[in-house]
Amino acid sequence: MENGKLTSIELLESVLGRIEDVDDRVRAYITLDRDRALARAKEIDEKRDRVEDAGSLGGLPIAVKDSIVTRHLRTTCGSQMLDNFIPPYSATVIDRIIQEGAVIIGKTNCDEFCMGTTTESSFYGPTHNPWELDHVPGGSSGGSGACIAADEAPIAFGTDTGGSVRCPAAFCGVIGLKPTYGRVSRYGLIAYASSLDQIGTMTKDVKDSALLLSAIAGRDPMDATSIDRPVDDYLSQISGGIEGERFAVPGEFIAEGTTDGTLKATWRVADALESLGARRTEVSIPSLDYSLATYYILAMCEASSNLARYDGVRYGFTIPSKADWIRAFSDTRGRGFGPEVRRRIILGTYALSAGYYDAYYSKALQIRTLIKRDFMKAFEEVDFLLTPTMPGPAWRLGEMADPLTMYLQDIDTVPINLIGVPAISYPSGFEGGLPVGAQLIGRHFEEGRLLRVARSIEDRMPHDSRPGT
Ligand code: GLN
Repeated sequence: MENGKLTSIELLESVLGRIEDVDDRVRAYITLDRDRALARAKEIDEKRDRVEDAGSLGGLPIAVKDSIVTRHLRTTCGSQMLDNFIPPYSATVIDRIIQEGAVIIGKTNCDEFCMGTTTESSFYGPTHNPWELDHVPGGSSGGSGACIAADEAPIAFGTDTGGSVRCPAAFCGVIGLKPTYGRVSRYGLIAYASSLDQIGTMTKDVKDSALLLSAIAGRDPMDATSIDRPVDDYLSQISGGIEGERFAVPGEFIAEGTTDGTLKATWRVADALESLGARRTEVSIPSLDYSLATYYILAMCEASSNLARYDGVRYGFTIPSKADWIRAFSDTRGRGFGPEVRRRIILGTYALSAGYYDAYYSKALQIRTLIKRDFMKAFEEVDFLLTPTMPGPAWRLGEMADPLTMYLQDIDTVPINLIGVPAISYPSGFEGGLPVGAQLIGRHFEEGRLLRVARSIEDRMPHDSRPGT
């Protein structure tokens, strides 16, 4: 586009054409914003014609997970509760990418209020994995992962509370980056568990991740947890190699049930790193065993509080009652939320109630500190960690019916949110025709280093980004 070889309209039309061809099978999008996107692409093309600065994302179409609010564009978070919600404001990340010239294509499917690992809990039905349509795309940002894999968007936003960017990235064979907690503003990200939530990027190559992160990172006065710290120049940091960097694959991350293909792919990445001059050592994270329980208690407690706002009074789905308010609230919440969301609100409320608070919530907070300590100790010995992203490839739609078994699949992703460090999922290989991912974990605010590591792997073992659809 910068060289005048392609216009933003041409690019957008090709993406929209692709959506028309495949999205009735993939079902990555909940809402398309076709007309406004076309008008906006035209506007960017005209800007370029006038030789004005079109921005770092000038004319690039982007898909946005439906958990990020977009002004005047329906935002459902995968829930009936917000089926007709048209936000009056945009998230800070949306304002920033618009400023940089991006063109929003539409909103992508996700698990209801981002609670899930498959995108099956969405009120709008599941998204299908573009590599094998009868398999899940991962979750909760499954729509964003699938639309990148199926060429229904070149770049996308996901959100990640316990793996929701990295899991669909791994299952769909794309690159997913969850930044450090506080690096990117959460203003306008529909809250699931506020101490864990972060917006992340999903792209086909590492350079695009760096480009998109540069556009959104930085302090935002609207989010008190966003950190006031200069933003690195991620695009320049991706080059330069990884000679002498120290890394380890902590044994605790190779959980019971990790598949052979996933293991092989992880070791292949480890070998590639060593051949690039990185040094492999051993570290251990003994408290990792407790991270799933800690995560699920904290996430459910925070969710039960955050989701109290959906009362059917101020906005969203409502079932009016002539009887009384209590009846109206419980009918609205009982019918407006799906079963997984109800389960988590009930469990979270239980864990926070008098008598159980100390046994569950306080205890989980203490263990969170222990886990963090173990990681920080490991990061004195190494510059980054390498692990599988998920214990195996995507499973079949409907296969993971038991919620507890599904929670166990998050073993390698949830600790990262508990401690707030950045992580990238990189496509590390295939198993049975489905992609698997390797996770790179870095110190707080070392996104630049992680991107450089991922970029070096990309040079050494480029991933196959063509799915079967
Ligand atoms: N699968 C995890 C959960 O259900 C993570 C979800 C997320 O990151 N939003 O909580």
